[in-house]
Amino acid sequence: MAEIDAEQEARLKRFRLMKRLLVIVPLSTILILFCLCIFLGIRLHFVKKELHKLQARVETMASVSESADTAAAQTTGSTEAYTSSGVDESRRTEIDAQEDAGEEEGIRKVYLTFDDGPSSNTGRILDILAEYDVKATFFVVGKEEELYQPLYNRIVEEGHTLAMHSYSHKYQEIYQSKESYVEDLTRLQEFLYDTTGVWCRYCRFPGGSSNTVSKVDMHELIEYLDEQDMTYFDWNIVSGDATSDYISSGDIIRNCTRKLGEFDEAIILMHDAAEKDSTVKALPGLIEQIQAMENTKIVPITDDTEPIHHISND
Ligand SMILES: [Zn+2]
Repeated sequence: MAEIDAEQEARLKRFRLMKRLLVIVPLSTILILFCLCIFLGIRLHFVKKELHKLQARVETMASVSESADTAAAQTTGSTEAYTSSGVDESRRTEIDAQEDAGEEEGIRKVYLTFDDGPSSNTGRILDILAEYDVKATFFVVGKEEELYQPLYNRIVEEGHTLAMHSYSHKYQEIYQSKESYVEDLTRLQEFLYDTTGVWCRYCRFPGGSSNTVSKVDMHELIEYLDEQDMTYFDWNIVSGDATSDYISSGDIIRNCTRKLGEFDEAIILMHDAAEKDSTVKALPGLIEQIQAMENTKIVPITDDTEPIHHISND
């Protein structure tokens, strides 16, 4: 009797073991596969990132060499058209001469405008602009941290136009009412005056004057700016760098130059933000392509600039 019991006991044990194995084996397989998926996912993310970086470098190099070819074709017979820095000096002299002679007529003006700065990229942008002796316009936001102070001042000292975007850049707040917009803009204007000594009069609405976020009729805000003798500027060319998705520097250059020939005055919308590396990378190639265009010059926004408006003033 006891022998039978022992045998039954052993069978029961085997059965339990089998049952446990049947649960453990599939579960651990699933767990291993899950970990493997996560690992591969992370690897894929980094490989993609690396690929984007390489793509951007290749495209920047391609557009730079393309612009060099165009410029070379235009400067007939001149073998000394380029300095070691790659800037087309003869082209620049030509434009300067035209400027001196007062031949403003028929010259296409291109405005490089940067929204949302200062950022960790502002210094790089300013360095590139200085290298090409190009002046731009910065529609800045309010950043009180110490590290940004020198950047506001560099913009002014290096001859660029300091203009206002929004202190907080929080759409929900600034477009809540006319009062909240005015409060935000005044705060920025005073902050910029305290920081740089410049009393700014040029603005750009976050999202542009045609934004659909504002709870206030944009005409009301435009009217306020008119009363204050402030001028607002929209844009007629988008670089495409506003997107949160990755955009290559080659695409930025193409977006900016594709329709440039259609305008006598082109205001290009770009962004100065920490995550917008492609914009910085695109800048040298973009400037070179614009400088290689006939009768075209890059200028900062001044009182002479004819503003681009997305909605009419009345
Ligand atoms: Zn903005």
